[in-house]
Amino acid sequence: MNDLRKAAVDRKVVAVRVDLNVPTDDRGRITDDTRIVAALPTINHLRRSGAKVLLISHFGRPKGRPDPSMSLEPVARALEGYLDDPVAFAGDCIGPAVEETVANIDYGEVALLENVRFHPGETGNAPDFARALAEPAEKFVNDAFGAAHRSHASVVGLARLLPSYAGFLLASEIAALERVLNNPERPLAALVGGAKISSKIGVLRNLVERVDMLLLGGGMANTFLAANGLDMQASLVESSHLNDASEIQRRARESGCEIVLPTDGVMASGLAAGAETVVVAVDQVPEGWTMLDIGPATERLFHDRLRLARTIVWNGPMGMFEDRRFARGTERIARGVAASGAYSMIGGGDSVAAVKLLGIESEFDHISTGGGASLEMLEGKTLPGIAALG
Ligand code: ADP
Ligand code: MG
Repeated sequence: MNDLRKAAVDRKVVAVRVDLNVPTDDRGRITDDTRIVAALPTINHLRRSGAKVLLISHFGRPKGRPDPSMSLEPVARALEGYLDDPVAFAGDCIGPAVEETVANIDYGEVALLENVRFHPGETGNAPDFARALAEPAEKFVNDAFGAAHRSHASVVGLARLLPSYAGFLLASEIAALERVLNNPERPLAALVGGAKISSKIGVLRNLVERVDMLLLGGGMANTFLAANGLDMQASLVESSHLNDASEIQRRARESGCEIVLPTDGVMASGLAAGAETVVVAVDQVPEGWTMLDIGPATERLFHDRLRLARTIVWNGPMGMFEDRRFARGTERIARGVAASGAYSMIGGGDSVAAVKLLGIESEFDHISTGGGASLEMLEGKTLPGIAALG
C-alpha cells in the first residue's frame, strides 16, 4: 500500500473517499461527530500539502437516486467548523457540478461532493460511473474504513483508475486489527457479545483459531449455553445454530482456546418496563423468563481472565445495555478492559456506543470507526477496499 506521506500532491486534485455517514437526529443535527473528527488528519494533511481536496462520501441508504433528506450539504456546513475554513459543496458527485466546484476552489481548499449513493453506479460499481468520479481527480486517497468492506465504485473502482493511497484513518484501523490478528502480544483474549450468534459465526470461527481465550456474553452466549444442554427458557436462543455453537466449542478445544461462558445472569420476567428481574445461575432461569445481561459472578470470572490478557479485542455488548437494568454487565466489563493494561481494541457499532455512553472511550487503545468492516476483518476476510489499494 502506498504511503500517503510520500505522495506528491502539491497542486494536484485529490479525490478522497471518506466516511461522513454520521448519525443525525430527526431534525438533521449530527448526534455523533466521531467520523468527521476521524477524517480530519488526512484532510488537513492534504490541505497543508497543497492539494485541492475533493471529498466523496455516502450518507444513509438513498437507493441510487437523489433524496434531499440524505443530502450531504448539512455535513459540509458542519465540516467548516472543524476545518475552520469554508467547504465548497457540489450538488452532484459527477459531471458539471463537480467541474465547476473544482474550478472555483484553490489549492489547499476543500470541497465535499453530494452523496455518492444518489447514483446506482456507486453500489453497483459501474465502470462508467467510476470513470466519471475519477474524471476531475489526479490521485485517490481511501480513508473510509467504514466502507472498506464494500465493492463500490468510490471504494474499489476509483482505486483501479487513479494512483491510490491509504488515508491515515484507514491505515490506523488496519494497523490495529493486524496488531490483534497477526502479531498479538499474548495471551490474546476476545470478548464477543451482541444479540445473535448468526451475525458473528464467521468471527467466532476465525477467532477460536487465533485467540487464547474467548469470552462470550450477550444474547449469543444463550445459544452456547443451550447447546450445552441448559434450558434458557424465553431467552433469545437461535435454535438453528445450536450445531454451530457445538462445533465452535469443539474447534476451540482442538486449538487450545479456552471458551468462557456466563455462569449467572440477570433474568427478566418480560421485556416491559415493569417486568421483574432476578440474578440467578444460568441453569436456574425461571420458567418463561429471559436472560438479558451477565451477572456479577460472570463479571468476576471475565475480569479474572481479562487481567491475564496482554491483548483484548472486544465486539458486542454483554447484555441489552440500551435498558439501564441490563447495562451493568457491559459497563463493568468495559471498565475492566479499560483498566486491564492490555492493548485493547473495540469494534462494533453498539459496543462502541456503549463505551461512549460511559465516557471512557479514551481509555481504549483503538476504537474502530467501522462496525461491519472490522467484523469482516475479524472473520479473516480481505476487504475489497483495502485489496484495491494494492
Ligand atoms: P455490535 O454492534 O457491537 O457488533 P450487535 O449489533 O451484535 O453489537 O449486538 C447489539 C445488540 O445486542 C444490542 O441491541 C443489545 O440489546 C443486544 N443484546 C445483547 N445482549 C442481549 C441479550 N441477552 N438478549 C437480547 N439482546 C441482547
Ligand atoms: Mg450492532
